[in-house]
Amino acid sequence: MTGQALFRKELKDVRTIVVKTGSRILTAAGHERRVERLAADLSALRKSGARVVLVSSGAIAHGMKALGLDKRPSEIPMQQACAGIGQNRLMAIYQEHFAKHDTLIGQVLLTWDDLRSKKRYLNLRNTLFKLFDCGAIPIVNENDSVSVEEICFGNNDTLGAQIAMLVNADVLVNLTDVGGLYDKNPHTEKDAKHIPVVSAVSVGIQKMAGDKKSEISVGGMSTKLKAAEMVTRAGIPALIGDGFSQSLLTVLKDESRATLFLPSDKKIPSRQRWIAFTGQSAGSIVVDAGASKAITEKGKSLLAAGITKVSGRFNAGDMVDIVDTRGDVIAKGLVNFSTDEVEAIRGCKTAEVEKKLGAIRFNEVILRDNMVVAPDGQKSCPAEK
Ligand code: GLU
Repeated sequence: MTGQALFRKELKDVRTIVVKTGSRILTAAGHERRVERLAADLSALRKSGARVVLVSSGAIAHGMKALGLDKRPSEIPMQQACAGIGQNRLMAIYQEHFAKHDTLIGQVLLTWDDLRSKKRYLNLRNTLFKLFDCGAIPIVNENDSVSVEEICFGNNDTLGAQIAMLVNADVLVNLTDVGGLYDKNPHTEKDAKHIPVVSAVSVGIQKMAGDKKSEISVGGMSTKLKAAEMVTRAGIPALIGDGFSQSLLTVLKDESRATLFLPSDKKIPSRQRWIAFTGQSAGSIVVDAGASKAITEKGKSLLAAGITKVSGRFNAGDMVDIVDTRGDVIAKGLVNFSTDEVEAIRGCKTAEVEKKLGAIRFNEVILRDNMVVAPDGQKSCPAEK
């Protein structure tokens, strides 16, 4: 890989890197110097041959500054107004600093809908890859001034994880104001011990994080851990590090300034990530005990014979939940038939399916390759809000 000397030893062959930076880094005292350094480091990575995406918060915080507000407003229209005022200020600052390195940048503003529709997801992917081809660094943020849902529940940690999966990144770097994970709060406890590597995000690790939020941003350490958990399940390592007092290049290299989350051994293949972590189900299909066992224990596809009930409105190609007799979502997948078709063939053996539908396109209602089974009976989509 290009520029490999820039990374700590565990991060081999990094070619595509997604860096997420929080609002405080971009707006608290000294932010000009931090943005200058970030632009220099991202430009250096880009010039070393890496494909780089920056997921940047800071629109609302810059808008608050412009309006003289100390606290994040609680009303959504005011947050949206702040975002409208702040986003172009943020981009103007980036433009100024990236221009010093002759680095092109491209603004990409997204809502959840853009990711949850498969068509728009793939379209966005094309845009990001084309920006890479142009030698540009895409700068991504949520489109806060129109995205009500985002402002109520969303955060850029999750967006960073989604983008890392979308571009099939080799690492997701989350820059914040602490050097990653500690066994206690390092801001208040002098003897807090730094954790350089985490092999799996367990409940114990989640507890260490606490969930303190600041006056200007929405994500705490717990949303960063969730993002790390999501990408590591998809097979992508994550770093959470101190981008406040340290440079990005230090975070990438120095083990004492960041925590590395190792990718899971049982990674979800890239073509199934959208199903597992991003897509929104248009309906659900209830299956009997035999089909449930075939899916969860025997690695089988879903056939019409095991279906007992259908709900929602979906077309062929949409994502649906597969639900067992207790009402638990056991899997999600891309369905080969519409609601009406599944309703017509539910409970039927394959030979009868042909009689009901005429020439059939598929024997399976959901192919195994287009399905993700929930781990231990939990919902398979950690991104779900
Ligand atoms: N998208 C928000 C902004 O630009 C930030 C969300 C977050 O802090 O995670 O202000």
